[in-house]
Formats: sequence, structure tokens, C-alpha cells
Amino acid sequence: MKFVGAHVSASGGVDQAVIRAHELEATAFALFTKNQRQWRAAPLTEEVISAFRHACEKYHYEAKQILPHDSYLINLGHPVEEALQKSREAFIDEMERCQQLGLTLLNFHPGSHLLQIDEDECLAKIAESINIALDKTQTVTAVIENTAGQGSNLGFKFEHLAAIIDGVEDKSRVGVCIDTCHAFAAGYDLRTEEACDKTFADFDRIVGFQYLRGMHLNDAKSEFGSRVDRHNSLGEGNIGKTPFSYIMRDSRFDNIPLILETTNPDIWKDEIAWLKSQQKVTETA
Ligand SMILES: [Zn+2]
Ligand SMILES: [Zn+2]
Repeated sequence: MKFVGAHVSASGGVDQAVIRAHELEATAFALFTKNQRQWRAAPLTEEVISAFRHACEKYHYEAKQILPHDSYLINLGHPVEEALQKSREAFIDEMERCQQLGLTLLNFHPGSHLLQIDEDECLAKIAESINIALDKTQTVTAVIENTAGQGSNLGFKFEHLAAIIDGVEDKSRVGVCIDTCHAFAAGYDLRTEEACDKTFADFDRIVGFQYLRGMHLNDAKSEFGSRVDRHNSLGEGNIGKTPFSYIMRDSRFDNIPLILETTNPDIWKDEIAWLKSQQKVTETA
């Protein structure tokens, strides 16, 4: 099964995100469970939690189809102790919110060294942050996203993701989400089927498909290898439509949320319909 959707707005309440996904005829969706640009949010009330759970039931979304994203402020590899603590607390809060909503995944950008510590030290701090959060929660998997490598953000090499996973004690609750725009900007080519074969073979060798918990499907305004993070609508950027069709036909991407974070929400419904149309009918024995 392919689960396809978009990162929808949760304005008006997290249950509204579910309705928006349904209106897009999506079979997956992503959302923020709190304002992504603020540190603090009011706790989820019983009312909100039950409205969300009911909406998911009504529109047939299970936890495996939903990929919540954490706040952009969180830096789990922060070089400064006090700031690191603040990020760790906020991340645990995000995980707890997911748990309350019955969600099992939490997508996040690994972290930045801010030019103050080296890559290995930063990666070790990120792994330790994940260990602390997993220890304090029960049911949510930490899903590390690859990045474009803008500024001092780590996670732009598959080796970074592998190093973080290596430092996580409970491997059953850590995974990765690959963003196609970020991969392309970081120098992983996806413009042809051959390039996709190579990039995903590299991913499998270095990280492993067993850790793949989601994908972000974005074309790129940024250039190949530019380390600049600028998304575009499918087929309108420098990547083109090839990898998106490829992913829809490849069973290695089954049963995980495939999420658009493309730039024009007005065409998400069309993009989702197009993605669905790329699946070949396969005969099952
Ligand atoms: Zn993304
Ligand atoms: Zn991005």
C-alpha cells in the first residue's frame, strides 16, 4: 500500500488537519501538533485529543499514515548545555503530545553544531538526546530527517543518519525520513531512474531501508549539490518528476507516509492524484 498526502495546516485545532487531509483525498498526512515557531504550547486537552482521534477514525487514518513534525526551534545537537536542555525538554513534550494523540512517529531535523563543536560531537549529542526522549516515552519512534546541509545543519549525508542511529540504544524506535529536495541539494542525484537506483542503493548500504519510516516528496528550486533548502512543486523544479514516479512504483516505499511539502497548496490535490496514478497495477498471487 502507498500512503500519500501533504503537510496540512492544523490551524483551528489538530482535528482540522485530519479534515484537510481528507479533502485532499490523501491517504497520509503530516502536521505540527503545536505552533512550530514557539517553544511553549498549552497542553492538549481531553477534548482536542478525542476530536483528533475521532476524526482519524471517521476518515480512516491510522498512526502509520501520519507523520507529525516537531518545532523548528529544537536543536538536539546544540553545543551549549543550557540551550541543549531546553531543546531536549521541548522534544520530550512533542513526543508526549504525539503519544496522547495516538501517533507513533515524530519527524525532526537532527540538529546544528553552530560552528562551535565538531560534527562527531554534535552527532553524539543528537543520539543522546534521542536516548533521553525514548527513555521518557513509550510508543513514539524518533524519525530523523535528512537535511539539505544549509548553514551548520547536520544530516545532509546518509553517514550522519547512520552515526546517529548507531548511538541510539533502542533501535526499534528510531528511523529516518528522506526528503527528496534535501537529498538533491545535498548532492544525491535523483533526476534519472539510474540516479535514483544509485542514491537509494547508497541509502540502503549506509542506513538501510529497514529504518525508512517516511518520505518528503518535494521538487527543488535549489541547484544540485547547492546545500540550499528551497522546495518546489513536483515537476516544476530542478529534479523533475522522475523520482516521484519511481517511488510510487517501488515497493521499498510501501506502508510509510509519503508527504508533500511542496510550495503550492492549491495544487496538492492534483499532485496527490498524480502520484497515485503512477502506481502500476501489480498482480498478486
Ligand atoms: Zn522535509
Ligand atoms: Zn526543506
